[in-house]
Amino acid sequence: MKAMIVEKRAPLEERPLQSVERPIPAPGAGEVLIRVEVCAICRTDLHVVEGELPVHKNPIVPGHQVVGEITRLGPHTSRFQVGDRVGVAWLWAACGACFYCLRGDENLCELPQFTGYDVDGGYAEYIVAQEAFIYPLPADLPSHQAAPLLCAGIIGYRALHRSDIRKGGAWAFTDSALRPMW
Ligand SMILES: [Zn+2]
Ligand SMILES: [Zn+2]
Repeated sequence: MKAMIVEKRAPLEERPLQSVERPIPAPGAGEVLIRVEVCAICRTDLHVVEGELPVHKNPIVPGHQVVGEITRLGPHTSRFQVGDRVGVAWLWAACGACFYCLRGDENLCELPQFTGYDVDGGYAEYIVAQEAFIYPLPADLPSHQAAPLLCAGIIGYRALHRSDIRKGGAWAFTDSALRPMW
């Protein structure tokens, strides 16, 4: 398969992404193989590519707003079928055992694995992901619109949810402070 990789060398090159040929990865236990249809770009990808974050895997395939179709199921999978369209986000996996995971806040996991940072991401023809951490997508949502929702959309939704805004309400900056307006 074709994949875009970043290989960390010093000094950082002007064009750090390289196109390479790689074998299609095999899904392990609890994992699925996904043929990538769309992978959006996020500021975090630029931090990874431009070397502004410490290297976790070298070389790495960036990309963590991935939409594609499951083409192969690994052993011990049950949640999806071959042919399902799914999304892969930044949190590739959480440890499942730390304080935060045990109380259901896996986004705060102390030993997380991130897509396109700890594990190869979506700038490739195929990606492997854990079935527990991928998202089924509604059929009427186009893939190119679903992809950015997997990171930027989640952040916006979380902020909106936590703002506790009421239906029909709005927040606005007044006197340099953010205040509810309703
Ligand atoms: Zn992101
Ligand atoms: Zn954890």
